[in-house]
Formats: sequence, C-alpha cells, structure tokens
Amino acid sequence: MTRKLAAGNWKMNGTRAALDDLNAIVSAHGDPGVDILICPPATLLTQAAALTSGKPLDIGAQDCHSYPSGAHTGDISAPMVADAGGRAVIVGHSERRENHNENNDLVRAKAQAANDAGLIAVICIGETLDERENGQTLDIIAEQLKVSTPDTATADNTVIAYEPVWAIGSGKVPSLDQIREVHDFIRKLLIDRFGNSAQGIRILYGGSVKPGNAAEIFAVSNVDGALVGGASLKESDFSPIINALEATA
Ligand code: PEP
Repeated sequence: MTRKLAAGNWKMNGTRAALDDLNAIVSAHGDPGVDILICPPATLLTQAAALTSGKPLDIGAQDCHSYPSGAHTGDISAPMVADAGGRAVIVGHSERRENHNENNDLVRAKAQAANDAGLIAVICIGETLDERENGQTLDIIAEQLKVSTPDTATADNTVIAYEPVWAIGSGKVPSLDQIREVHDFIRKLLIDRFGNSAQGIRILYGGSVKPGNAAEIFAVSNVDGALVGGASLKESDFSPIINALEATA
C-alpha cells in the first residue's frame, strides 16, 4: 500500500529565512509514518533539497514547463526541477489554471514531462463555486481527471489532488459527505481506467486544511492525505496536520 502523503504548497511565499521553518519541520518528523513533501518557490528549490537531503522529507516544485528546455523565458522545466533535487511537481493548480489560462491538455503535457524526468506529478483538479452550485461538480471532475492525467499514470508517478477552487485560501471547506462523494468518484474513475493498481494512486484533499479540521477530513474514505497551502508555511501549523495523517496510517 502506498504511504499517505502530507504535501505543502508554499505558493509565492518564502525567502531564504523560510528555510528555518523547513528545518523545524524536518526536526519534528525524524521518522514519519507518512510521506512529506514541501513545494517551496523555485528560488528555494536547490537549497531546500540540499537541506533535506537524506531526510524523510521530499522537495517539489509548484509548476514546470511541458518542454524539457528551450526559449521559454521565466519558465522552469521538469529536468531542471529534478536536477535541483526535486522529487515531485504540482501541475494544474487552480491558480495556474486561472492566472495563466492553463487547460487540461497543457496540464497533461506537464504531468507527462514531470514523469519523463522521473518526478511525481501532483495533478490538481477541482470545481469552482458556480460549477458546484449548478450541480456540475462530478462532470467537471470527470473531465479534468480524464484529460489532465497521462495514460502512463501509476501509483508511483502520479498523485491526484482534489481541490475545490472555492475552498482554497478561503477558510471554507466542503462537508465531509461532499469530500467523500468526490474522492470515491475519483477512485472509481481511476480504477475504471487504470485497473486495480489504481487503488494505490494517492488522492489528496486540498482547500483550507488546518490543524483543527485535518483529523476529520483524513477519516473520510479515499482521502490519502492533503495538499496544504497556508497551513504548510509554519511548522506549528503543518506538524499537527502531519501528525493527524500519521494517526490514520
Ligand atoms: C493550495 O494552495 O493548494 C491550498 C489548498 O491552499 P490552502 O490550504 O491555503 O487553502
């Protein structure tokens, strides 16, 4: 069985001083019962990877280009992330889908590029508030999952993160029944497409996960961990979330 995963997305937060928080997370989890991944801004990738080398905590990027190299000013490629010591890359985060007009085809190309570079692709999907209120949630999830996930996805190279757009950074969280409905649905779609081995593909919940709500979310079926934004920035917030996940492992 694949280990559960506590993943942190630092977004556009953190200068070198933030490496103190990374150190604190490493020190607090010397022998964790779950996988831990921190995705700092690209400027900190190399230092973060060096600082956590040999420790049970992986470093990842928040995005990558779909090409391995070329004339793409400002972008970073999956081989560059791997070369910097990264083990994973988030693709298709709703902030990139919205701010950079990324669609499902591009997200799949990025996930494929990540896998080709030996990285785990953390593929984000999730409905907007309008889509939920119009009863479209499962249709949106099905389409995003189908098109954003490469045919070569396995439990080793792919993680799916269900992140309702309206729950990200808002303090609003779906009901546990709503989370269960979507996670069970994603698991079924993965098994229909990839067979029984897809039981091992981790499905993370993301959207306003905090120390106070983590345990109840982790008790929901087919929730194999969390992708955490704001509450991953400080060891004092992220550690209790890791501990809550360990308690279910
Ligand atoms: C995220 O950025 O993926 C996220 C879930 O953010 P937050 O935890 O702050 O809602």
